[in-house]
Amino acid sequence: MTAVPDPNALLTELRSRGYANLPDIDIRVGTSVLDGAVADASSRQGPPAPVIVSDGGPYRTPAGSVVDRLSEQLGGCRVIQLGEGTVRADEDTVERAVAEVGSSQLLVSVGAGTLTDIAKITAQHTGSRHVAVQTACSINGFIADRSVLVIAGAKRTVVSRWPDMLVADSDILGSAPQRLNLAGVGDLSTVPNAVAEWQLAARLGHGPGYDAAVVEQVLAAMPALPSLARATRDAEPDGLADLARLLAGSGLSMGIVGSTAPASGSEHAVSHLLEMALAQRLGPAAPHGMQVTVATRLALRVWQLVDRAIRSGPVQIRVPDEAASRDAVALAFAELGAKTVEECWTAYSAKRNWLQEHRTDVEALVSDWDEFIRSLSLPTPEQFDDVSHASGLPTRAEDLGSGYDDRLLTWALRNCHLLRERISIVDLADVLGVWSDDTARSIVADSENR
Ligand SMILES: [Zn+2]
Repeated sequence: MTAVPDPNALLTELRSRGYANLPDIDIRVGTSVLDGAVADASSRQGPPAPVIVSDGGPYRTPAGSVVDRLSEQLGGCRVIQLGEGTVRADEDTVERAVAEVGSSQLLVSVGAGTLTDIAKITAQHTGSRHVAVQTACSINGFIADRSVLVIAGAKRTVVSRWPDMLVADSDILGSAPQRLNLAGVGDLSTVPNAVAEWQLAARLGHGPGYDAAVVEQVLAAMPALPSLARATRDAEPDGLADLARLLAGSGLSMGIVGSTAPASGSEHAVSHLLEMALAQRLGPAAPHGMQVTVATRLALRVWQLVDRAIRSGPVQIRVPDEAASRDAVALAFAELGAKTVEECWTAYSAKRNWLQEHRTDVEALVSDWDEFIRSLSLPTPEQFDDVSHASGLPTRAEDLGSGYDDRLLTWALRNCHLLRERISIVDLADVLGVWSDDTARSIVADSENR
């Protein structure tokens, strides 16, 4: 049985290694921990009055509605309901939340990942203390000091703030839809690829330096994913708590590094594009963790493509020229509108310029490829698929639900490197001259055949 690291122990360990700037965050994970946690948080706070922000989801425990119980416990405090079960993390919603919360409150957020993202930004803007009550094990981002926000139609990660307390109560998690909890397993399944891409970028000198200590415990727990997936199916309290702990550990790694690099590689860029396209078509999106796990299967095949290209003989690094890149971004994202094209071009052109200036670093990486690839903890596509199947995770576009098909997935994979500034394995394929419509299509087809 693979042990799942405790996020509080991870913080203690990093503190003992001399890490500065670690968050002062109270992480409460377990069965029936909500009442005690909220009592502690409110007794610490004193006036002004607490306020609950929810996404309107029907969160219940065997003891009743979570929001009603909390509101009663907090003296009948105000409840701000931002949606009817779902919310969109865009600038308008944040503005509304900030206006309704007012300044310096004890902000208790009750909801899934999107609501928590909004609450983190709201707490930052209103100077409030924030208790985040997570209602599902759906993502690793509950704890990190980053939020994903839709800006000019593009999904962007912005700096928000750490919650002061994170509450993951198995009583609540156990009544979340199983698919949402399983999505958390999917989100974690991407970590080995994300970390490998982080190592790739760091090796080139782009983005945050690689720091094994913040991710090694989460990476070591990857063999636990199938048993955590089983716990989501059986709503098994201890397993759900372990899943929440591992998600929190992964979230912490992003916050500590100050970047989403430890948990978000090209598979996340693919997922962001899928969601942006579906939002344009007004279709519902599959849970984040389901999309990223499907995309990870593709990213691992891009590593193989790059590996084959480098081993097949002398290669030349060619950074695409500026005009052609601009056209490529405009063509790729035309459907998403002119503002999104501009937003993506700003990010991509910065990366293109950087690659242009650092061609020799890419060449050096290619000559040390053998040694570099051996330093990664990257599963093969087959090993990854074994974990996916054992966990009951989706593997194909069609498993994600209506609106998803190979065409959409191929478009997202083909263009994911044009979305953001982070250097990914797809960028390496691109500068090696092996990235094309055909390769993206054949990678999606190959992954469908298994
Ligand atoms: Zn994620």
